[in-house]
Amino acid sequence: MYVLCRQRFVWWLRVPVMASWVLECLNCNQKFEYSKISASGLINYFQPLKPEMPPDGVQMQCPNCGQNGQYFRHQLTYRT
Ligand SMILES: [Zn+2]
Repeated sequence: MYVLCRQRFVWWLRVPVMASWVLECLNCNQKFEYSKISASGLINYFQPLKPEMPPDGVQMQCPNCGQNGQYFRHQLTYRT
């Protein structure tokens, strides 16, 4: 039993931490990162839940073209 638990623990550590929520710029259509899904939220990694956002959206600046835009929760896409 102890060995099983230990193997599972090692397996968790090998999970690549590449997942993130991305938004698509309204101006240049480039995708940019809104937030990372970290290993500390492993449940989120496997069953990603969209992060909460205010109902009227958030102001984000595109790192590619510098355009400010209003973004909404439904525009978030999951990227690994
Ligand atoms: Zn842009």
